[in-house]
Amino acid sequence: SDRQRNAVEALINEFTISPQLLQDVKASFMEGMKKGLKKDGETMAMVTSYVMGRLDGSEVGSYLALDVGGTNLRVVAVHLTGGGEITTSQTKYRIDEKLKVGEAKALFDFMAVCVDSFLDEHQIVVRGDTQFELGFTFSFPVLQTSINRGTLITWTKGFNASGMVGKDPVAFLQDAFNRRHIPVRVAALVNDTVGTLLAHAYNHPDTCMGVILGTGCNGAYIEKMENIAKWKGDASAKEMIINMEFGAFDKERQVLPLTMFDNKMDRKSVNPNKQILEKMIAGMYLGEITRNVLLNLIDRRLLFEGCISADLNQMWTFETAYMSTIEADNSATLHATRKILESTLSFSSTTMNDRQIVKLVVELVGKRAARLSAAAIASVLDHTGDWKQKAAIGIDGSLFEYYPSFNTDIMDGLEEVFGPTVRQNVSIGLAQDGSGVGAALCALLAAKYT
Ligand code: ADP
Repeated sequence: SDRQRNAVEALINEFTISPQLLQDVKASFMEGMKKGLKKDGETMAMVTSYVMGRLDGSEVGSYLALDVGGTNLRVVAVHLTGGGEITTSQTKYRIDEKLKVGEAKALFDFMAVCVDSFLDEHQIVVRGDTQFELGFTFSFPVLQTSINRGTLITWTKGFNASGMVGKDPVAFLQDAFNRRHIPVRVAALVNDTVGTLLAHAYNHPDTCMGVILGTGCNGAYIEKMENIAKWKGDASAKEMIINMEFGAFDKERQVLPLTMFDNKMDRKSVNPNKQILEKMIAGMYLGEITRNVLLNLIDRRLLFEGCISADLNQMWTFETAYMSTIEADNSATLHATRKILESTLSFSSTTMNDRQIVKLVVELVGKRAARLSAAAIASVLDHTGDWKQKAAIGIDGSLFEYYPSFNTDIMDGLEEVFGPTVRQNVSIGLAQDGSGVGAALCALLAAKYT
C-alpha cells in the first residue's frame, strides 16, 4: 500500500549512510583518534597496549590463553612451533548472566576454576615449581599501565560486575589463581583487538590492523611512537599497538545518525548513553534494533496486519544470527525468512509482503553497520597512510564471519573513500581464533620487555 511504501521510504532515509555521511563520520573519527592519542580520558581511549615490535612467524613456545569479554569464556593451550605453525586446543565455558552482574570476585573465581578444570581435562601438568605463562584477553576498556597491569575504565557488552571499575583485572585473576594454588602466572593483559592483530601478523607479516566484529566492536592498529603524544614511557621502540576502544565513538552524538530505534534499545541496555558506535555495529545489538523497527511497523498496522507474536514481544529475541539467514535468503518465496518468523518466532502466518518488508529492514540495519565499520577502518588507513601500500587487516567475530554482505560492504566503503587501488593494496581476512593465539603471542612478547 501507499502507507507501507512511505514508511519504507522513511526507513531507507533514516538508515542509509550516504557517501557524504560516510566521509563526515570518517573525518570526525579521525579527530577523535588524534584527541585520544594526546591525552587520557577522551571518548576514544586510544589505549597504549605496551606491545611493541612486530612478529615474523618464527616465534616458538607453549602458552595458555584465557579469553573473557564476549558470549563465552575460552581457555586455550597454544603451541607455537615456528614457521607460522600453530596448534591449539580449547574449551569454551558459558558465563552465567548472574556472574556478569554479580560480585567481581565471584566472576574471577569462576575464571580460575575454568582454567583449573581445563588443565585437568587436557591432563596438562607442570614440572616442579614452574608456572604456566598465561595471556589474559580481557576485552573491556582498560587503561593499561604495563604489559600485565591495567585498570578497568568501564564495563561493556552486558557485563556489570561490582567492585571492578578502577581496579586491575590481572590482580583479581592472579589472586584467584593463587588462592587455589593453580600454577599459572598472568604474563600479559591483552585486548582482543590486539590479540587479533598479532595472530593475523603471525601468518601475514604486513598486518596493520586487528578488528573485532562480534558481540562488540573495536579495533587496534600499529602506531608510530612519535604520534603518541601522551606516551611518557620508554620511547626507544619505533611503534606500538594502540587499542582504540572505538566502540565508544561519538558519545557526544555529533555525527552518528541515531534513530529512535537506536535510542529505545540504548535506554534498555545496561550501559545507556555509552558505546554509541558499538551499539550501531555489533552483534549484541543489531537484532534488537531490527526488532524495534518491526514493532513500530506492527503498531502502525503496516506489518503482520498489526499482530505481534508473544516471542517477538520480548526484548532481545530477534537474534542477529537470524539477520544473516534472512540476508542470505534469495528464494522466490523467502522461505528461510518465513521459517524464522513462523517457526522460531511463532507468528501464525505471514504474507510475502510481510517477509519482504522484514528482509528490507534487516538489510538496512545490516548495511548501516557494515558501512560504519568501513568508516572506522578507513579512518585508520587514512591516518597511517597504510592504504597506499600492501597491508592486511585481520577481523575476528561471528558478525564478520557469518553476515553475508559484511566483507563486500566494507570493501565497497573503502573503495568509496580511497578509490580502486585500495582493493589491490589492502586485504581483509578472517583472523580466526585471534584472541587465543594472539594472547599467547603477547605473553611471548611480554617476556622480552620484563
Ligand atoms: P564474541 O565476540 O563474544 O567473542 P562472537 O564473535 O561469536 O563472540 O560474537 C557473538 C555475537 O555474534 C553475538 O552477538 C551474536 O548475536 C552474533 N552472531 C552469532 N552468530 C551470528 C551469525 N550467524 N550472523 C551474525 N551474527 C551472529
